[in-house]
Parts: sequence; structure tokens; C-alpha cells
Amino acid sequence: MARKRPNLTVVESKPDTGPLDDYDENYLECRGVCHPWQGVGYFRDGAWISRLLRCPRCGMEKITTMRRDGALMGPAKYSRPDGYSIANGGGSTQEVRQEALRRAEAEMFGSYADLLAPRVETIEAKRSRRRSS
Ligand SMILES: [Zn+2]
Repeated sequence: MARKRPNLTVVESKPDTGPLDDYDENYLECRGVCHPWQGVGYFRDGAWISRLLRCPRCGMEKITTMRRDGALMGPAKYSRPDGYSIANGGGSTQEVRQEALRRAEAEMFGSYADLLAPRVETIEAKRSRRRSS
């Protein structure tokens, strides 16, 4: 008895898009490689002392509060710039890396094969090149 072949449906692959497509490039970099915190200063917080740090890349601020002996008085508090938070808690660390790779592929190399080719170009060099053109 001949088996009937199933009808096959060709499914178009999804376009190369993701939840972070329009995400700010500086925010993506901070999420990917951490904030390059710079000290702004200290201020009194009741009987304790707080230290304010600011990220020069994305503008996020971090406050740590401590006793005079340096013991932390709880977790740090963050003030995020508008647009930094991703809706619905999205943006896992893997999604951030994936988006950074997608942009690197599209903007710096043109193809995934070229991305893996043994050459080095920093993001700063890319930006400098883009500014001068
Ligand atoms: Zn930052």
C-alpha cells in the first residue's frame, strides 16, 4: 500500500529582527559590557554617607550608601535614563549579545563569514570612520 506524502508547506524564515532592533546603541553597549562608572561625589544621607556614580556613556546613576567604616547599608540604587528599561522585562544577556552581534555583522562586516574573519576593528574605530564620511 502506497503511503500518501504529506503536504509540505514552505515557511518563510523570519526577517532578521528582534526585540532590541531599535534599542539605543549606547544602552546596548552598557548592557553588554557594563557601565564605565565615574565617581561624581559623596553626600550625607542621615547618619550614613552615599556615593554617587554616573555612567558617561548612558547617563545611568548609581548610589551606594555606607557607614563610615565602609560597610554597605543595602543594595545600590539606580536611576535609569529614559528608554533604558526594556518592555516586559525583555532583554536577557543572551538577547543583548545576539543584538550586538547582529549589529556588528550588519554594520561592520556585511556578512557573518566576514565577522568571523581574523581581523580587528574596534567599535570606536567604526564610529570614527562613520563620523568622517
Ligand atoms: Zn552606561
